[in-house]
Amino acid sequence: MPTQSKPRAYSVKAYATSGAKAPLGATTISRREPTETDVQIDILYCGVCHSDLHFVRNEWGFTQYPAVPGHEVVGRVRAVGAGVKKFKAGDLVGVGCLVDSCRTCPDCRAGLEQFCPEMVMTYGSADKHLGGGTLGGYSQGIVVTEEFVLRIPANLSAAAAAPLLCAGITTYSPLRRWKVGPGQKVGIVGLGGLGHMGLKFAHAFGAHVVLFTTSPGKSADARRLGAHEVVVSKDEAQMAAQAGSFDFILDTVSAPHDMNAYLGLLKRDGNLVLVGAPSEPFAVAAFPLIMRRRSFSGSLIGGLPETQEMLDFCGQHGITSDIELIRMDQVNEAYERMLKSDVKYRFVIDMASLK
Ligand SMILES: [Zn+2]
Ligand SMILES: [Zn+2]
Repeated sequence: MPTQSKPRAYSVKAYATSGAKAPLGATTISRREPTETDVQIDILYCGVCHSDLHFVRNEWGFTQYPAVPGHEVVGRVRAVGAGVKKFKAGDLVGVGCLVDSCRTCPDCRAGLEQFCPEMVMTYGSADKHLGGGTLGGYSQGIVVTEEFVLRIPANLSAAAAAPLLCAGITTYSPLRRWKVGPGQKVGIVGLGGLGHMGLKFAHAFGAHVVLFTTSPGKSADARRLGAHEVVVSKDEAQMAAQAGSFDFILDTVSAPHDMNAYLGLLKRDGNLVLVGAPSEPFAVAAFPLIMRRRSFSGSLIGGLPETQEMLDFCGQHGITSDIELIRMDQVNEAYERMLKSDVKYRFVIDMASLK
């Protein structure tokens, strides 16, 4: 049998972990030389998502080491394959949570690649080209097939646009799917990386926006980010005053909490949508759902067409993430701070610091 020749590869610097208990540290990884349909990207910035931390610490149980996280990538095109039509050297581009999919299943044909059974995640999936696992954006460069590369509007800050690739689309997609807009009352639960983007989008879509938080101290920030009202969710009187009044609530909290308290705040036919991912199952009472025909559902990032739509919307409306720019060697400390919610509201790594 003829042996298939391995694709040619080149080396880039990266930050990786060697095991679940190991800190992230400097290393060198291989990227494939761009094929005919590939875009070769020099990474400028990479956002730090809570998923990165779950992944490098093997909290989902499928991590292979060495592990390189990072799926909020903004960079500049270095070179493109001969068949690439949408991009050229010098373009400002983004890569989110996905780098490939089957392209033929019903989900892919609907532009909902995030639900493709064969989707290839930016990190932690099988690498069809080089073998091993896919390696993410905590690195100097990445090579991605053209269809999974996104245009970043030139008027946005490249660093502050990075979190749009995960935190942005994760909140934009359900707000669009459930047609949030003027005349509606919309709740955002939690003010972190996801929640602060939820406030910005819900406000931009013209809804009356209410933030639910356990921290009364976040009120002024929430209003600056787009909330019209702030409700302290631990205050029963404040919660009771909101009963039955919401068209839509977006729940961004990953820690265990009581869903029934939020279901009871919905109007008839209202929707509570989960984008956070509490690790333990939670109890949902039947009556809050039955009584007003309410719905409880979930949402996962967004497909490629909608992610581009979101980026273009952000360009038109000047929307980016509120970020704290860090050096690559500060990432371990940033993880500890992220665990304490000590970030306003997303860390972004300046990849020029990876030398
Ligand atoms: Zn993410
Ligand atoms: Zn597919």
